[in-house]
Amino acid sequence: MVSVSEATVNILSQLYKPSIETVTITDAPGRVLAENVLADRDFPPFDRVSMDGVAIRFNEWKRGQRSFGIEDVQAAGSPAGQLRHAQCAVEVMTGAVLPEGTDTVIRYEDLTIHEDQATIQTMDVKQGQSIHRQGQDALQGDVLLEPGIILSPAEIALLASVGKSEVKVYAFPKTAIVASGDELVEIDTEPEPHQIRRSNTYAIQAAMKVMGWEGTQFHLMDDKNVLVDSLRMITASHDVVILSGGISKGKFDFIPDVLEEIGVKKVFQFVRQRPGKPFWFGVSDSGKIVFALPGNPVSTYLCFYRYVRPWLLSSLHVALKSMHAILARDFEFEPDLTYFLQVSVRNEMGKLMAYPDSGGGSGDFANLKKVDGFLELPSDRSTFKAGEAFPFIPFRLAN
Ligand code: AMP
Ligand code: MG
Repeated sequence: MVSVSEATVNILSQLYKPSIETVTITDAPGRVLAENVLADRDFPPFDRVSMDGVAIRFNEWKRGQRSFGIEDVQAAGSPAGQLRHAQCAVEVMTGAVLPEGTDTVIRYEDLTIHEDQATIQTMDVKQGQSIHRQGQDALQGDVLLEPGIILSPAEIALLASVGKSEVKVYAFPKTAIVASGDELVEIDTEPEPHQIRRSNTYAIQAAMKVMGWEGTQFHLMDDKNVLVDSLRMITASHDVVILSGGISKGKFDFIPDVLEEIGVKKVFQFVRQRPGKPFWFGVSDSGKIVFALPGNPVSTYLCFYRYVRPWLLSSLHVALKSMHAILARDFEFEPDLTYFLQVSVRNEMGKLMAYPDSGGGSGDFANLKKVDGFLELPSDRSTFKAGEAFPFIPFRLAN
């Protein structure tokens, strides 16, 4: 039996080495960048007018001139124009190149314009105002994005602006999601009274899909010979196998033995945690990774979010971020186990408050719809006080 932190260290030291694939920019959101992205030009690429108004020479304003004849208009998308007479102004639009000979922009809100004569109505004018200077944000050749970034809309904007219609990202491992159990039936069938529809593999597949990660589902019966043959084939043809069920001490829990028999070496079995104690993790000689998660639905769910998801992110070179939430009510848990407390969270004046709602144990997956994640309560204590912060493992996105 290992502690939660030992299990974590073991798992994070058996990372998958992803290959690199190229995707179009429209398929890139949520994927993990696998290349450096450089600025192909300065950001911005020219002195960019940042307000609609007129461009003048500051010196004329300083000498007391307040009214300027408009001699030209500079639109966004036109090549750089030029101020011909120092005492005049050029009408300029946001996004236009600052006309040569001007150095200050006065926005329309601070002007009156009458018969091509712009009169400045404010005393507050600073040299260089309302101009976004060439190279102010980044210089040509600067690294804008590095490998390991999950591409969000902000990064997509950068990719587009440097002309990358295609981008290199880390490929996901080929993944099998395997349910085991004689009691499980397909979800589109009517179960006999002693049967249940299998839901864990759908939950895992859904949790993966949110990350852009695909997996193929399998269902195996509790038959040792069938398990040996099927798991040998499944392991050979996938990089990662995520199992659920069949790993406890029950008479038909063959999975740990079968995995060892087909050459998957146990790294650990049993973690000092609740839920999810029977969790088994192993690696084959050829580097296949096997997560054998407990079958109880809440345990499967917790183990996916607490161990499998961070493993995948680390494998794709994403730096893991931890999150904390504040326990909103006192809570007691006696056993010498790390307890993953189901909580719903509310942001109260900038503090993430976690309200316990532990439900009816690891089989009660209907309770998951009421909560937002798990609070990780350490094993060395039994009393947890309202106001204390603990690691929080969210499974619901902010909305
Ligand atoms: P096991 O770990 O195989 O002993 O299963 C523990 C409990 O989880 C049993 O009540 C199983 O019926 C249930 N279970 C196992 N696999 C699944 C699954 N894929 N979907 C829903 N429940 C499951
Ligand atoms: Mg079972």
